[in-house]
Amino acid sequence: MTKADDCSLDPEQLRAVELKAKNLLDRAEAWGVLPTPVDIILEAAKVKLAPTKAFDPARIMAYLQGKAASVVATLRSGLSKVFGIYDADDHIIHVDDTVVEAKQTFLKLHETGHAEMPHHRKTFRIFQDCEKSLSPEIANLFEREANNFARFALFQGTTYAQMAADSPMALNTPINLRKKFGASVYASAREFASTNSRECLVIVCEKAEMREGFGIVFPIRRIFPSAPFDRRFPVPADAFLHPDHALGPMLPIGRRRVKQTTVGLRDRNGDLHELVGEALDTTYNTIILIYPVKALTASTIILPPGFVANANSPTGRVV
Ligand SMILES: [Zn+2]
Repeated sequence: MTKADDCSLDPEQLRAVELKAKNLLDRAEAWGVLPTPVDIILEAAKVKLAPTKAFDPARIMAYLQGKAASVVATLRSGLSKVFGIYDADDHIIHVDDTVVEAKQTFLKLHETGHAEMPHHRKTFRIFQDCEKSLSPEIANLFEREANNFARFALFQGTTYAQMAADSPMALNTPINLRKKFGASVYASAREFASTNSRECLVIVCEKAEMREGFGIVFPIRRIFPSAPFDRRFPVPADAFLHPDHALGPMLPIGRRRVKQTTVGLRDRNGDLHELVGEALDTTYNTIILIYPVKALTASTIILPPGFVANANSPTGRVV
C-alpha cells in the first residue's frame, strides 16, 4: 500500500495556511528571490535560530520543560530522532545541522509555520519534529498545516509551477528546479507532478531490496499523478516494482539514471498508450517520471482547491 497524501487539508484550511505563508513572504519581500531566503524569512517572522553546534534534543527538551510546566506537542515515537524544535515562548528554532541542507531548509520553514499560526502557539509551547511529523503522511492537523506552510514558502506559491510549465516535460526539469528552489529531488518531483497541467506521473520508490520470489524489488513509497494524468490513466496500485513489471524497463538497476525508456500503459478505457519513462536513483530513493510521448504543451497550471495564487507574480494565475 502506498501512503496517503498530505494535501488532505480541506480547501478552507489550506487557504488559511497559504495566506499566512503568503503574508510572511510579503513581509520578507521574498517573492522572486530564489531559493527562498530563509534567514530573512526567519527575521520577518521574528524567530531566532539557535546555534546548532550542539544540537542535542534531549538536553534542549529537558531545559525547556524545566522552565515551567510545559505543554508539548509530542508526536515522536520512542525510536524516531528529533530534527527540529520550536520553542514558542522564546521564539527560538533549534535545527539539527547534520541533516542535508534541503532538509534543514524545509525544517526551518516548517517550524516557522508553527510560529506564524497563532492557534498552534496557543495550543502548545513546544513543538518537536521528527521524521514522522515531517513526512507527507502525517495525520496530525498542525503538522500537516506546518508542512503545507513550508511547501508554499519553499516553492513561493505558484512560482515553481509556472517555471515547470515553461520547461520541458523531462526528469531534468524537476532536477534543475530543485537547485533553484533549494528543495530535495523528492519534494521537487512531487511539486512538478502535482501542479502540472500536462499528463505526467511521479513514482517515488524506497531503496531497492531483495525479495524472495521476485529478486530485486523497488517498494513504492508514494505516487503523484498530475490531474490530467489521473483523469486519463488509472494510477498503479502495486506495492512494489520489479524487473518483470510493465514499468520494469525503467528501474535503475546497476546504474543511477535511466534515460527515456518507452513503456506501454493502458488508459481508463483499456486502450494501450506509448509512454516515456525516466528514473533517477538519488541514493535515498528512486524517482520515476512517466509521461505520454506527445505531452500536452498548455502553459496553464492546475492547482488544488483553495490554493492561494501569488498575487505579486505577474504570471500568477489559478486555473
Ligand atoms: Zn511540526
